[in-house]
Amino acid sequence: TIGANFERTVARFGDREALVDVAAGRRWTYAELDADVNRLALGLLARGIDKGDRIGIWAPNCAEWVITQYATAKIGAILVNVNPAYRTHELEYVVRQSGLSLLISAVSFKTSDYRGMISSIGFAATAYIGEASFADLLIDGDVSAIARRAASLAFDDPINIQYTSGTTGFPKGATLSHHNILNNGYFVGELISYTEQDRVCLPVPLYHCFGMVMGNLAATSHGACIVLPAPGFDPAATLAAVAAERVTSLYGVPTMFIAELGLADFAAFDLSSLRTGIMAGSPCPVEVMKRVVAEMNMSEVAICYGMTETSPVSTMTRPDDTLARRTETVGRVMPHLESKVVDPATGLVVPRGEPGELCTRGYSVMLGYWAQPDATADAIDPARWMHTGDLATMDADGYLNIVGRIKDLVIRGGENVYPREVEEFLYSHPDIADVQVIGVPDAKYGEELMAWIVMRPGSTPLAVESVREYCSGRLAHYKIPRYVHVVDGFPMTVTGKVRKVEMREQAVDILG
Ligand code: ATP
Ligand code: MG
Repeated sequence: TIGANFERTVARFGDREALVDVAAGRRWTYAELDADVNRLALGLLARGIDKGDRIGIWAPNCAEWVITQYATAKIGAILVNVNPAYRTHELEYVVRQSGLSLLISAVSFKTSDYRGMISSIGFAATAYIGEASFADLLIDGDVSAIARRAASLAFDDPINIQYTSGTTGFPKGATLSHHNILNNGYFVGELISYTEQDRVCLPVPLYHCFGMVMGNLAATSHGACIVLPAPGFDPAATLAAVAAERVTSLYGVPTMFIAELGLADFAAFDLSSLRTGIMAGSPCPVEVMKRVVAEMNMSEVAICYGMTETSPVSTMTRPDDTLARRTETVGRVMPHLESKVVDPATGLVVPRGEPGELCTRGYSVMLGYWAQPDATADAIDPARWMHTGDLATMDADGYLNIVGRIKDLVIRGGENVYPREVEEFLYSHPDIADVQVIGVPDAKYGEELMAWIVMRPGSTPLAVESVREYCSGRLAHYKIPRYVHVVDGFPMTVTGKVRKVEMREQAVDILG
């Protein structure tokens, strides 16, 4: 269980630093963190929280988030991660859908809208971080009550409901066990060789598996220290925390690294302590990976691929892979997991190198979507393969490439176009900082390609003719964007994923 694993780390590394909340100016050793975790666990037990009860957390990154994660794990309560970008309408869905007994929330979220919503649905149990309602939950007492509860917990009990990012539709609550997420976090830490010497900086949201599993669980299962640079993503605060805290490992979705590399005073930050890190969550552009390796001193940086439903990581690059494989692929399948690439129509494995739907099987596959048996049955087949909805190719040595989501595939005049391939090509243009390609309806070809482009600072917006000219002769004619739209940024989820669904809706309006 997560609690037993955490206590093992506390026993081995009690006097080493466990957690730094940079914005709050506070730090904990493992022994101190365990003491706070136990105080919250005792407070929750005193409130009558039972094994399997749901406790929500709705807050930006902060130390209390981490304390809540381990306190709930120790007493077997199911932690429900609520997206801090949610407002009352979405929150009401989560409160009802998961049947919360208690919500731990940021005091800044205590708006009149929120109070109106909870009183209208008759839900009163909120503890606000920074107020007495949360402080009163921390009680000193005899920890044998925690040990008694621990004895009743099993490795495959549900411990977490994590909502997916909502990139393609309404978020779904993946129900995950200790076994699912602890093993995944542990193996991520193994493959980037964490030890108690490592300091892991997490600008990614803790509410998402990237932060709480690949970050927190990978770190605490190896005695490494968690560094939270700021409540929300702030590129300058992140690099300042790396320098001040001598961070060895930095995480981010691609857009976070792009923002950090794009800071006007990027060169002023001391990144000499960095060794490794993880880029994940959405397609990792080769150019960006190369710059992270070369300019951020992250020579061992890994790419991970996965999804909330698989706890999350299913494939990952290793430090001893060639640089080409570490920048151009999502690596190979994780230890103790299986991957296959199938034709979505027949379910049969496709020849190596050909695109098909990626499927994952093994310990990391979720128990199911919370209270959604039909959605679960659609995603996990009777042979226990999770169908990811992502298109991938696998080469002869088992290295995978993600070519895109099935839902984003563009079919233009009968030709399959993988937007990712066109995006990768356009990244090579010297004036383009960021680019996303979508399909838009077209009377003649069914769909046409539209590129949304963010220009590099100081460069003149590109006209469609010059983009087409740049592609001409280098990309097949049907992959050349018909439309170009210059923007400052893309519609995003809080986890830093581009919402192509929303781009497609906006494109229809833009094109009339
Ligand atoms: P929803 O399922 O609600 O639409 P989501 O799929 O974005 O949202 P997550 O579980 O956070 O929710 O993200 C998993 C998805 O992110 C994967 O299915 C894949 O499409 C994408 N992804 C993750 N890592 C990578 C990567 N390294 N390269 C390409 N895509 C990635
Ligand atoms: Mg998904």
